[in-house]
Amino acid sequence: MELVFLIATVTSVFVSFVDGAGYLQIRPPSLKQCCYTDINKAHFSYDRDFCEGPKNWCKVHPCWTTCGSKRRQSPININTNETIYRRYPRLKFENILKRVIATIRNNGHAPYFEVHEMFEDEITLCNVPERPRKKEYNFAQLHVHLGRDEKEGSEHSIDNKFKPMEAQMVFYDKDYEDVAEAKSKRNGLVVISVMIEVYGRSKENDDCGCDGETLRLYPLTSINPDFWTLLRLPRKCWYNNCGRTPSKDFIEKRCEKEEPENRPFFVFEGITPLDVMPYDTNRFYTYAGSLTSPPCYETVQWVVYKCPIKVSTKAFKMLQLVQDSHLNPLAKLGVRRPLQTNTNVVVYRNHLK
Ligand SMILES: [Zn+2]
Repeated sequence: MELVFLIATVTSVFVSFVDGAGYLQIRPPSLKQCCYTDINKAHFSYDRDFCEGPKNWCKVHPCWTTCGSKRRQSPININTNETIYRRYPRLKFENILKRVIATIRNNGHAPYFEVHEMFEDEITLCNVPERPRKKEYNFAQLHVHLGRDEKEGSEHSIDNKFKPMEAQMVFYDKDYEDVAEAKSKRNGLVVISVMIEVYGRSKENDDCGCDGETLRLYPLTSINPDFWTLLRLPRKCWYNNCGRTPSKDFIEKRCEKEEPENRPFFVFEGITPLDVMPYDTNRFYTYAGSLTSPPCYETVQWVVYKCPIKVSTKAFKMLQLVQDSHLNPLAKLGVRRPLQTNTNVVVYRNHLK
């Protein structure tokens, strides 16, 4: 029942938004109109032609100025010929076989699986490259980046090749309360990145192909069937309800547009980094970079696995249909920051060529 309400509500909002003229009118025409002093009002977008777009992130809000840095901004292209070999111990995960409770939240940019705060110190990581070995990091969330089409969906590229999607797992230094506190602190975060290919479609010519990688039932598609329905929403209409007046109660509870930033979707049991970890975890690249969305703090040690995982075409299409904060499918603009050029970022690899 709940779900029916939700679908009806969001569908009606969606209809009012697809009106082309209306959409154009809500686009601020100049950079000035995208700028705010109140952080709650500040928004960013992946629309390159829009004043909130990636090029302007650093100007939109005084907290986001780091986005314009040329020091260690992410994502980057990893040119494997320029990577430097270093011996690192294997990444060490604690309790990785355990599933922890998470909330799926759509922050208007991507679906985020956020580990419930009660479980944030259950799954931990140490042996992080370029950080003290014993330093521990808590698993906090997992989210996915995708593009306008299958060719360019990942944020990072390896030898100028993008993958259809990229999963990023965020870990924060255990000395801090949570991600929010850690993200602005020196060495506060570690993000593990896994490239995602579409099963049977991507033609990879690396040496990752035939070493045991199987089709992933990514948590979005496998665990919660309700989320499935919600994702397909833009295609669904409620013809049977046409002409009916929704009840007052319904309007009150369901028809007020909520701020998408704070719209929690579902809580479910069970995510673990294993859900998106590639079969081959022996080979990775690592570098000191930044968050890939505002405020772009330069506090992230990136670990990018060489080998991708694979999801079904269906899963890929579902993810493309998740709505952004303008209620457009994510695939319309993509959810990925363009590659950054830094003056002095060194990428290390833990494997011989
Ligand atoms: Zn990300």
